Amino acid sequence: MTITETLAAGTARLNMARIDSPGLDATLFLAETLGLSREQLILRGPGPLPETASRRFFQFIDRRIAGECTAYILGRKEFRGLDFLVNPGVLVPRPDTETLVEAALAELEVRRTVENTGSASGLFPPPPPASLLDLCTGSGAVAVALKHEWPALEVFAADISPEALETARLNAARLLGAVSEAPAGPEAPKIQPEFSNLSFVQSDLFDRISRRFHLITANPPYVESGSIDGLSPEVRREPRLALDGGADGLDLIRVIIAGAPEHLFPGGALLLEADPRQMSRIVSLLEQQGFLDIQSSRDLSGAERVIRGRTPGENPARIGGTHGSGAFRV
Ligand code: GLN
Repeated sequence: MTITETLAAGTARLNMARIDSPGLDATLFLAETLGLSREQLILRGPGPLPETASRRFFQFIDRRIAGECTAYILGRKEFRGLDFLVNPGVLVPRPDTETLVEAALAELEVRRTVENTGSASGLFPPPPPASLLDLCTGSGAVAVALKHEWPALEVFAADISPEALETARLNAARLLGAVSEAPAGPEAPKIQPEFSNLSFVQSDLFDRISRRFHLITANPPYVESGSIDGLSPEVRREPRLALDGGADGLDLIRVIIAGAPEHLFPGGALLLEADPRQMSRIVSLLEQQGFLDIQSSRDLSGAERVIRGRTPGENPARIGGTHGSGAFRV
């Protein structure tokens, strides 16, 4: 069979099994099997496919039909244009979570704009120093994407799961070439100086964190415990630890909102991803803790997916100065 014929056969099988994006999945599997990009694969369409590649391709198709998600089968998932390694120890980064990255970038822009008002620093003023704590970092998608897009950001990525942290570190090494505590020796990733200041810490939310940040981001588990069994087979293969938010889905969000004020500089921002149906309850929790400027951002489907609150302070942007103080209690 040619590449085109095999692709069509795989697509048809996925389609019959009512898989969401059969053509795309089949293309990704076949490209992976042959070590080609999607574009190269199309160009080689009329060419023959070796028997071993065909066998491997149909194994991927079978796994997909059996309920494994494409990202776990490939071991990779694109997020903010970066190719993240994923495995069943981490939640697969979702396009919706890009909204969280965008909201964090908007906060950094506010800092840059306001801090440079009235200064004669030219067309490209350097951004003011800023630090980020990303809780429940999982694969590191949010932390690594933010560091990639805002290299001057000082980033701490935390997770309770050592397995997740291992994946996050690997992603940082691959995508940024910057991991503190990197293994020594010839295999050590090259540190790219512009991406230094990125650290990982194993911590149950704020348990082992004892300093303040300008920004805190989190995509915590927020699914109601009772709803997990009703999720798709693909999602049920993801770590329960990354999904289960307790009876009302808000268990971790409550702890984060309660702990955030003492871990943010005045005027700092907390940005949380949550279920759109939880937003009004989260607004109340933020208000109870004294957060101001509470605002939500919408995901690609137009639903409120991310919420921001700021701690009281003179100005959300005028919070430099104490930057960098404190240390982890490890
Ligand atoms: N967005 C995920 C879902 O679709 C939930 C992720 C989470 O709990 N953080 O189920």
